[in-house]
Amino acid sequence: MREFNEYYEWHVAKKAEYMAEALQKKHFIVEIAKTKEEAKKILLSMIPEGSSIGLGGSQTVIHLDVLDELRTDKYNLIDRYSSKYSQPPDYHFTAMRESLMADVFITSSNAVTQNGELVNMDCSGGRVAAMTYGPKKVIFVVGVNKLVKDIEAGIQRCYEIAPANAYKEGHYTLPCVETGVCNDCDAIQTETIAGRMCNYLSVILDAYKFPGRLNVIVVADEIGF
Ligand code: SF4
Repeated sequence: MREFNEYYEWHVAKKAEYMAEALQKKHFIVEIAKTKEEAKKILLSMIPEGSSIGLGGSQTVIHLDVLDELRTDKYNLIDRYSSKYSQPPDYHFTAMRESLMADVFITSSNAVTQNGELVNMDCSGGRVAAMTYGPKKVIFVVGVNKLVKDIEAGIQRCYEIAPANAYKEGHYTLPCVETGVCNDCDAIQTETIAGRMCNYLSVILDAYKFPGRLNVIVVADEIGF
């Protein structure tokens, strides 16, 4: 468990600076937030009123406590957490298809490498699709806990966090929910079983194309998983 003290604060601040520099070298637009409250303010300042907004499934975004603000009349939120999309099996598919045309897409990243690459693994692929193409602006919010050495370590991190993600999504039949670690399952989706979580791997190498599209708020704290 993390301990809040001056050494922790020094370390997360250093890591945040390191991540920001690495990402800036790859031409991502980067802001550093000292706290999640500051990250929330920065995030809202980056979204023009009237924007349509899509969301990637993200504990980080939920922990920012920003959803209530995004649900106001100021924005047109495609709210994947709304009851509008709560009827399976189409809810996720519908919300994520609509999100591909959003003005702004808000998400986190499963990993940020020391070289400034973003590594992500998806179950359905909608989140990694929207990061790559579609929404005019993408805003990633990442805590320093997402920092990894390289792409290989990023992929490893994706598999390490997938069991918690599977549990969060209620995919209780998966073997990793039983054991807490990845069993490289072959669970095929059926009407009653959600199926394997780890299906679509994305590596964003840089932000040279479409300057200004890919934005990252680095939080000098651990947030999300
Ligand atoms: S591959 Fe299967 S067992 Fe492994 S983390 Fe993904 S869903 Fe769980």
